[in-house]
Amino acid sequence: MSKLLENLNAEQFAAVTLPPQAALILAGAGSGKTRVLTTRIAWLLQTGQANPASILGVTFTNKAAKEMLTRLGAMLPINTRGMWIGTFHGLCNRMLRAHYREAALPQTFQILDTADQLAAIKRLLKTLNVDDEKFPPRELQHFINGNKEAGHRAAQVEAWDDYTRQRVGLYKEYEDQCQKEGVVDFAELLLRSYELLSRHEPIRRHYQLRFRHILVDEFQDTNRLQYLWLKLLAAHGAETPAAVFAVGDDDQSIYGFRGAEVGNMRDFEREFGVANVIRLEQNYRSHGNILDAANAIIANNSKRLGKNLWTDQGSGEPIRVYEAPGDMDEARWIVEEIQQLIRDGASRSDVALLYRSNAQSRVLEHQLFSSGVAYKVYGGLRFFERQEIKHALAYLRLLANPDDDTAFLRVVNFPTRGIGARSLEQLQDAARSFNTSLYATVPHLAGKPGVAIGGFLRLIEEMRRATDGLPLYEVVDHILDASGLRAHYRAEREGQERLENLDELVSAARYFMNEAEQPPAEGEEALPGDPLSRFLAHASLEAGDHQAEAGQDAVQLMTVHAAKGLEFDAVFITGVEDGLFPHEQSMNDLASLEEERRLMYVAVTRARKRLYLTLAQSRMLHGQTRYAMKSRFFDEIPEGLLKWLTPRVQAGFGAGAYHTPSRNAAWNSQHSSPDAAKRNPGAGAVQKSRDLAGLRIGQLVRHAKFGDGVIIAAEGSGQDAKLQINFGSAGVKWLLLSLAKLEAV
Ligand code: ATP
Ligand code: MG
Repeated sequence: MSKLLENLNAEQFAAVTLPPQAALILAGAGSGKTRVLTTRIAWLLQTGQANPASILGVTFTNKAAKEMLTRLGAMLPINTRGMWIGTFHGLCNRMLRAHYREAALPQTFQILDTADQLAAIKRLLKTLNVDDEKFPPRELQHFINGNKEAGHRAAQVEAWDDYTRQRVGLYKEYEDQCQKEGVVDFAELLLRSYELLSRHEPIRRHYQLRFRHILVDEFQDTNRLQYLWLKLLAAHGAETPAAVFAVGDDDQSIYGFRGAEVGNMRDFEREFGVANVIRLEQNYRSHGNILDAANAIIANNSKRLGKNLWTDQGSGEPIRVYEAPGDMDEARWIVEEIQQLIRDGASRSDVALLYRSNAQSRVLEHQLFSSGVAYKVYGGLRFFERQEIKHALAYLRLLANPDDDTAFLRVVNFPTRGIGARSLEQLQDAARSFNTSLYATVPHLAGKPGVAIGGFLRLIEEMRRATDGLPLYEVVDHILDASGLRAHYRAEREGQERLENLDELVSAARYFMNEAEQPPAEGEEALPGDPLSRFLAHASLEAGDHQAEAGQDAVQLMTVHAAKGLEFDAVFITGVEDGLFPHEQSMNDLASLEEERRLMYVAVTRARKRLYLTLAQSRMLHGQTRYAMKSRFFDEIPEGLLKWLTPRVQAGFGAGAYHTPSRNAAWNSQHSSPDAAKRNPGAGAVQKSRDLAGLRIGQLVRHAKFGDGVIIAAEGSGQDAKLQINFGSAGVKWLLLSLAKLEAV
């Protein structure tokens, strides 16, 4: 038997070696789906059933794509460079660059990320004098993207009411603006690529003949347009369709809010005539207690395709739960615990901190930073999204494509060149009446505005001349000086870090040319487009990846969404509170609550050996103190799997005021130490007699902010006591007695 297949169980083996036909592997978390998919690619190559060019592999993140290529490289002596393995966005970008003419795009088209897109929409509303209270830009963005992801151009959207008709009109204007400027947003990459394939028979035939094997990971999160794109590429319905191999888990579908459709799995099974669905049931990732908790949580969902997961790894440690008085305390405790893990031999990158909302990361970062623990945030403000980097990229974008109005407006007066808002308004009006880009309009602008902005035009033209023929990183280096960006940040008091980031951009360009841009080997296809455009596309699509190059051993911080497909020895799920996880916007609607539950299932199943759930009774979020109860998901986990670590509050809420629970002896130990942490009374235990500082249920009290209210319930006692109070129009709140400063009325 081939070495590749040695470490597979029977079902995995069957999946890897299926004949080339449509296949669906439906299996729970950690059962080896991604491993099966990667091994299948290697097996197809090794047995000569495929060559590297005939494979299309779709992953969910760039990180996953890179990992897949690395693993393939390790399994087989092949050059994986140039293989079409990537994200939907990355693959579509590549296709559009190769056929930009047929796709009606300029060769150097630029990609708008989410923030750029929002800026472009705001600008559009302003140009059209549209009231942005009636048409909030974010909502419009959502509307446009939602339609694109469903495959609908403005002309195809059905509108039954005036408001929708107006929104469709704005969608149309937005399409025109992007086309004129030569820019595409993320959803457009897909839609454009889909249209390219459906409208150009020779191009479609080319790819259909080429990609004989299409393999898709995380299939449950594909949206309608992605499904249609796959169907088209696979020559579905033709005599010789490609073999589509899809792996997924309906219980991990977490992008429903962005238009992903689990229904795609059912459609795939039916439309592609999947003969048999393979299920993998053995989980190789997590210890038993963790898996039991995950299974118990997800069992509460109604619409499931149904799977069982088991492990032979033993039950391992209980799941540790820590309830802190406040978010700072929660963060402090987590960081102490991480330091202990490190002392016990864990490496930082084996530890992940997960949160439901990005806003939670700030407090955690602060605590890690002040304790000197190296960490890395995925999906936060990434390198390529930083202000100074975006400014520098805007200059580069103008060099590549002067019609990019978003880039133009970003830097026309940055650093300041005395170009006023009025001059820019005149320019925008003129551009609109000529129907040309801002850049192209400048020479036609009369008077003072023409002179002022004309200077900017000459600056860009001069840059273009000076950098002609230079290697990419020298181009970058040159524009940093010529634009005045370096001088600007040098003069800024807090500019040091920004200057370093700008230098880092030069390194990024150099790195990009060395690594990603090797000239093609013989027989390998050349990458389409010029290096600058490729670099800019890389910056838009692979933002964040650059950070990882430092290769530093760091604690991993990310949202639960970003953790999909990954695994870590120790995982902290933080802020496990009602209102945060499940998110308050999703608590009152069954479908959204089920999506939150799947998200919790994803979070729990990231852990190999040790899982922590932490929560805080109060936290600052979006500038407000919020009081919260433990998440309802706690009630879905069998009590015996949990170990509550109780903070014993001695005085006040300061640092070190509570007892730190004793640690488990060894990081790698399979067994929990018998430290009998007291069950936290604040977490639902029934208390017979409560010390509520003289207050009682039914009593009328006054709160400085919420006014008068009636105590309707209480939990805990002493310093831990929490009261549920009905404040009438101010709502029903849970307050921590010791913090709330209540007065009996
Ligand atoms: P997710 O649903 O979270 O994406 P998955 O189903 O893709 O999970 P993998 O990431 O492929 O699961 O595998 C989980 C872990 O189990 C990996 O560390 C993998 O190497 C390991 N694993 C998978 N199959 C086996 C096996 N037959 N023997 C040993 N280890 C295995
Ligand atoms: Mg996976």
